[in-house]
Amino acid sequence: MLFDSHVATLLGTTVALVNRLTPGLDGGRDVSLPLDEEALRLAVRDAINTQGYDVPVRRVTAADARMVATTVTEARRVVEDIDAGDLATAAKRTNVLLRRSGARPQLDTHGPGVWNLHFHGPNDTFGVGWSAGIAAGLAMALGTPDAGRLGVCRADRCDRVYLDTSRNGGRRFCSTRCQSRTKSAAHRARQTS
Ligand SMILES: [Zn+2]
Repeated sequence: MLFDSHVATLLGTTVALVNRLTPGLDGGRDVSLPLDEEALRLAVRDAINTQGYDVPVRRVTAADARMVATTVTEARRVVEDIDAGDLATAAKRTNVLLRRSGARPQLDTHGPGVWNLHFHGPNDTFGVGWSAGIAAGLAMALGTPDAGRLGVCRADRCDRVYLDTSRNGGRRFCSTRCQSRTKSAAHRARQTS
């Protein structure tokens, strides 16, 4: 098995947050930051809920949203380092994130006799908890031979990130849209050459 389900969920959520909260390009379309506090809170909530959570927006204060956005900006740099093969810088950055978020391990149970190692922040506010979770997910990925499963889309005019959960680990694009865009561009190039 690749990552355990808790780590996979943390990484999937980190990818969704990075793709929503860092400015850049998504398959040729501009991605800009949410303009005001309300939009930022909604964007954080929506990105997290794409991963199967059911967070009501009232759980996310403006301070929580700002804290998550700051952590996510740094998480993007970690993924870029990994993509560039610079694991040393990725690890250094992740250690800073772990220290700053105060991430600490804790065993939680989801049913009789089943205990999972989770990471919490120094308090249970939404922003602190998720900052710790994002840092811990990156740390647990970097501590395995599968860190390279995090990457940046190779398509033209796209810089969104992805988590490759495929069996063969051959993913290069953030989406099937970017993959087919790149394929047809290569096909057109062959036709005209
Ligand atoms: Zn893409």
